[in-house]
Amino acid sequence: MKAMVLDAPAPAEARPLAAREIDDPHPGPGELRLRVKACGVCRTDLHTVEGDLELARLPLVPGHEIVGVVDEVGERVPGDLVGTRVGVAWLGAACRACTFCGTGRENLCLDARFTGLDVDGGYAELAVARADFVYPLPAFFSDEHAAPLLCAGVVGYRALRVAGALGRGRLGIYGFGASAHVAIQVARYAGCEVFVFTRAKRHREHARSLGAAWVGGPDETPPVPLDHAVIFSPAGEHVPLALEHLARGGTVACAGVTMSDLPGFPYSRLYQERCVRSVANATRADARELLELASRIPIAPTVEVLPLSQANEALQRLKRSYVTGALVLKP
Ligand SMILES: [Zn+2]
Ligand SMILES: [Zn+2]
Repeated sequence: MKAMVLDAPAPAEARPLAAREIDDPHPGPGELRLRVKACGVCRTDLHTVEGDLELARLPLVPGHEIVGVVDEVGERVPGDLVGTRVGVAWLGAACRACTFCGTGRENLCLDARFTGLDVDGGYAELAVARADFVYPLPAFFSDEHAAPLLCAGVVGYRALRVAGALGRGRLGIYGFGASAHVAIQVARYAGCEVFVFTRAKRHREHARSLGAAWVGGPDETPPVPLDHAVIFSPAGEHVPLALEHLARGGTVACAGVTMSDLPGFPYSRLYQERCVRSVANATRADARELLELASRIPIAPTVEVLPLSQANEALQRLKRSYVTGALVLKP
């Protein structure tokens, strides 16, 4: 099969992914194989190819927003799954036995395995996944529109919940990429008034078109205090800014996998029961909930499709924030 393979991490500008013909994978017991129809490009892929994340194995095929059709099943997997369309997300496996797995927090499992990091992902024509970690996808969404829901969408959804923004209130969103553009649609459906902080003109226009009540720069002061905040940008300096914008008792959720160091700030910004929390990927329950909600709202993801062979270009554009919505690769 054709795949975009990472042999050694390097800056995206150095084109670290090589287009290569590699052996077709086959599913082991409890696994299935997908013929990949689309795979979203996530910021975590950028952190993977650039070596910001520890790489347990190389060479590696990245990609963890996979939409595909099952074409082969391993032992103990029902054969009638062949021909069905499913999605694969970042959480590829968890132990299902530890304290975290037993308390609905499998995203924190110490033995979790991640798609496109610990196992080969979807920047390829074929991908293998554990059958109990794939999701049926609402028919409403095309392959390329379903793909960004699987990580950008799901993580944004979890971040909204962590920030307490799945009810009414005023929500601040910092950074406006793939995840944020889905999150604003969920938040507005939940009844939130949304305030978006972003610099790029294209992102400001995108936020306005999706119903932001106010759009400004990260260092601007919103016209009213906010009840919740989600930081999608990897900029640690946005944390004290978000706290400053927040009313008493509000929560700031940081949705990124990596973030620059948080600058010091006076305790008074945190006092009055304000709270800062991180979000570490998402559980299968988050994915099922978001996918169900996505067709009910219905979410309209903004996507741009590129051929799989342009994965390096896609990552370079993501790095420069030269994207409106989400980039999706098609083999
Ligand atoms: Zn576990
Ligand atoms: Zn992701």
